[in-house]
Amino acid sequence: MTQGRKDRFDVAVLGAGAAGMMCAAVAGQRGARVVLIDHATRLAEKIRISGGGRCNFTNLQAGPANYLSNNPHFCRSALARYTPQDFLALLRRYDIGWHEKHRGQLFCNNSAEDIINLLRAECDAGSVHWQTGCTIDEIRKEGDDFLLLTKQGTVRAGAVVVATGGLSIPKIGATDFGYRIARQFGLKVVDTRPALVPLTFDGQAWQPFVPLAGVSMEVDIATGSGKMAGAFKEDLLWTHRGLSGPAVLQISSFWRPGTPID
Ligand SMILES: Cc1cc2nc3c(=O)[nH]c(=O)nc-3n(C[C@H](O)[C@H](O)[C@H](O)COP(=O)(O)OP(=O)(O)OC[C@H]3O[C@@H](n4cnc5c(N)ncnc54)[C@H](O)[C@@H]3O)c2cc1C
Repeated sequence: MTQGRKDRFDVAVLGAGAAGMMCAAVAGQRGARVVLIDHATRLAEKIRISGGGRCNFTNLQAGPANYLSNNPHFCRSALARYTPQDFLALLRRYDIGWHEKHRGQLFCNNSAEDIINLLRAECDAGSVHWQTGCTIDEIRKEGDDFLLLTKQGTVRAGAVVVATGGLSIPKIGATDFGYRIARQFGLKVVDTRPALVPLTFDGQAWQPFVPLAGVSMEVDIATGSGKMAGAFKEDLLWTHRGLSGPAVLQISSFWRPGTPID
């Protein structure tokens, strides 16, 4: 940890979503001087809408095989060092009630807001400095430090963590900022595409199935071949616009346009 300038932080975490808040909290509690910056004024909007408002915060069977990555080993050490049981221990400390819904999926009894409050309290326990409603215009390297030029002035930090999330739901704050910063600093970025999403259909073609909206059924669902083959036994949910539920969200990560889903 570097001592000295008061306006200098050890770590600037960009993005106050699930990843950024957890990272800031842990770094702060380990003694780093941390600033957490977000352009939104409301914290962690994606957590708020997750799991239908109750946040499916972990799965008892979560393991490396559940993660898709060009580097399948990437998640191994993280999952080994922080297990679903570790997160449950944290929930117990905050007296947050939860229940298992189906196949190891854990949800809050009350509301996703409980998880946001927990993360906020964990950040406070690490004396994290908040800078919300703050747009970052540019990031520069100056010697060993990073300079963040923001609408609220310049922030100097020894390390920058980019946790500005993926591209889904721009109307609640998602941007391609993380990808742009990665490219600026010469990091390779793989092509992005939707994953864990419902499948929607052309309105006219879907009309005959609209009366089924709300019906849920267990299905065997599969698509693709070779390395990109996906097959699940899960619940499928009919909706007014198409198909959703765990089976469809899972298979969407494997589906390629033009490939049948069986
Ligand atoms: C409808 C829906 C339901 C979901 N349900 C679940 C669920 O039940 N369980 C589950 O595990 N996952 C669920 N997910 C996925 C989960 O919400 C995300 O994977 C997770 O919240 C991502 O967290 P994150 O911190 O990486 O990114 P985000 O939560 O997207 O946070 C990124 C933050 O960065 C900020 N930001 C973006 N650009 C900038 C910028 N230029 N400058 C400053 N700040 C910026 C944003 O305002 C945001 O606060 C769901 C997602 C959706 C869309």
